[in-house]
Amino acid sequence: MKIIFKSPKGIPDILPSEQKYWDFVKKIVETRSMAFGFEKLELPIFEDAKLYQKGTGLSSDIVQKEMYEVRRLGAENEEDEKDVKFALRPEFTPGVCRSYVEHGMFTRPQPVKLLSIGPLFRHDKPQKGRFRQFNQFNMEVIGNSDPLTDALLILLVWQIYADLGLKNEVVLKINNTGCKKCQPKIRKNIIAALENSRTRLCVDCQNKIYTNPLRVLDCKNESCQKIVANLPHIIDIICPDCKKHFMEVLEYLDELKVPYDLNPFLVRGFDYYTSTTFEICDKKDPTKKATLGGGGRYDNLIALYGGNDTPAIGFAGGFERIIDRIKEIEVKVPETSKTDIFIIQIGKQAKKIALNLIADLTEKHYHVSCAVGKDTLSSQLKVANKVRAKLAIIIGQRELLDKTVIIKDMRDTTQETVEMTELEGVLNDKLQREE
Ligand code: AMP
Repeated sequence: MKIIFKSPKGIPDILPSEQKYWDFVKKIVETRSMAFGFEKLELPIFEDAKLYQKGTGLSSDIVQKEMYEVRRLGAENEEDEKDVKFALRPEFTPGVCRSYVEHGMFTRPQPVKLLSIGPLFRHDKPQKGRFRQFNQFNMEVIGNSDPLTDALLILLVWQIYADLGLKNEVVLKINNTGCKKCQPKIRKNIIAALENSRTRLCVDCQNKIYTNPLRVLDCKNESCQKIVANLPHIIDIICPDCKKHFMEVLEYLDELKVPYDLNPFLVRGFDYYTSTTFEICDKKDPTKKATLGGGGRYDNLIALYGGNDTPAIGFAGGFERIIDRIKEIEVKVPETSKTDIFIIQIGKQAKKIALNLIADLTEKHYHVSCAVGKDTLSSQLKVANKVRAKLAIIIGQRELLDKTVIIKDMRDTTQETVEMTELEGVLNDKLQREE
């Protein structure tokens, strides 16, 4: 065998053996968010690049260096491709807000709660927990500014990570990065403080001082971190309204018994964030880079896209990093691809009976499998064992004549002969047996 094609760098396949983890996370996210009144929203995989330039922000890493352009091969000179540049979606929030405005969701009872799940694309250096195509669950609550909304979203997030078995593995970090009114003051204060230590910052941060000073707070470079530790706390600079909002959020979290860590230097990578910001961090991640999720308020984004002034808050969690962590601590995950019944036939006549049985049982929603191309009992039983079938139905010459089948319980290897007419009842009894 010669491998001719490989998946692109940083874009892994999600193999059948991995599916149970994905199903596990998806099910928890969907069940928990539906309980809070979320509805599903599916978005295009690519959109007008300007959506992200305007929303995520020109000074963000995503827009500056991580977005993939989408173009039809050979379309450079065509009229319809000239004015719009499409980008593979690097995050969900701009698309959700675009959809909210485009489809007049402001006419529905507010807040509108939307859940999106799917792949995103960012050109980053592939490494553990960092891919070029990765998957998120993304929850947005649009149309309410009450601190209670922040607390309820954070409660939902906390419930999800607890259900995932990660309650003791993660810490919820929270901060408030100010509103439109106080952000210029925060910027000014941070720039002034950073200017004093400018030459000791890494080159990247030196370049960011005037374009995106808050991103310096997020730099993982050790010398930058030392400088950041002495910067003024954003919470001490924010306006009284933001302070009040923040205190109320914390009060509600205390009431709900959701544990949190106040982090005065927590900032997020997108330009639209205002007020409450929070992250789910892995307690054991020494790099402090690999968050398992993050979110916050973005009270100006809907208006930026042409909607009315509409406050909103959201959160996105990363499947790959969550699944990595679940595997590391060996969370028990249910098997999802299962074969309940394995059909074994011996002889040409039996094959036809087996065929009809497969048609009948699958029609009735049993999970059925067989070993096509294998004719001996032992070779078929071997496959039944491999796919961990619960029951095997064996049809041989004798059974054909008697209009019976043998049911072998693969879990304890007992077997019995059953009349065809009684087959379904016996199958149901056996399948209902506790594992
Ligand atoms: P963000 O959209 O940057 O706020 O990220 C939210 C979550 O998505 C992070 O906490 C990660 O779990 C996940 N994530 C972000 N970027 C990547 C990536 N390149 N590879 C894998 N997961 C990612």
